[in-house]
Amino acid sequence: MTPLVDTHCHLADPKLRPDADAVIERGRAAGVRAFVSVGAIGTIETDAATVAIAERYLDVYAVVGVHPHDAAGADSRRFDQLRELARSSRVLAIGETGLDFHYLHSPREAQEAALRRHLELAAELDRPIVIHCRAAEARLVEIVREVGMPRRAGVIHCFTGDAAAAREFLALGFFISFSGILTFKNAGALREAAQVVPDDRVLVETDAPYLAPEPYRGRVNEPAYVSRTLAALARLKDTAPETLADRVLENASRLFGFAAG
Ligand SMILES: [Zn+2]
Ligand SMILES: [Zn+2]
Repeated sequence: MTPLVDTHCHLADPKLRPDADAVIERGRAAGVRAFVSVGAIGTIETDAATVAIAERYLDVYAVVGVHPHDAAGADSRRFDQLRELARSSRVLAIGETGLDFHYLHSPREAQEAALRRHLELAAELDRPIVIHCRAAEARLVEIVREVGMPRRAGVIHCFTGDAAAAREFLALGFFISFSGILTFKNAGALREAAQVVPDDRVLVETDAPYLAPEPYRGRVNEPAYVSRTLAALARLKDTAPETLADRVLENASRLFGFAAG
């Protein structure tokens, strides 16, 4: 079976958490060897639950941070709590942080301040950074240049920019991760961008429970469906899915630092 990795899912989300055992089991049955589960949405309780889930399964890893939607609530206390949670060896990265100027659920200034603090925390803890960026590519590049890229680099998750933005992020050292959006009919520009990302810098994810790929669009997403995004990417790159899957697993293992076995 093709070895897969879901580099970004939210297993502590209320839509998946009560069913986490079964969700993980179905992922494994579909070939998922590693699940990178991100807290960040809502309060510190989501981060804590994400770490707790990762502590129960050898193939589940955690990422902790404050989502840009919730950046307005990211005070010093929250960062102290994140630092504390990140003592767990199951926490492989910091995030998701970043800028979302599409929804603007938190004011720009709060999002930018939180992004800076996450970049500093990632550098301090020597972990890679997981970035969420929506309609804010140019500003994100500026801030990362100012603060500096963490030594362990990072990933632009659920990339939705164009080819030019992809090139800028690649130049900074980021990996680029594609979600189920790649399978949507109207994602022509994104499919073009996918072609500029080299095989050694590309990742795939579900962002479950959000953004289910075709033919599951509109349903609750889960890691098992990551095969659909991988297949779409393989078609675009004119590569065999098995070959691309090996590269993606290797990339994820290099970025996050887990053993790809
Ligand atoms: Zn996101
Ligand atoms: Zn996410």
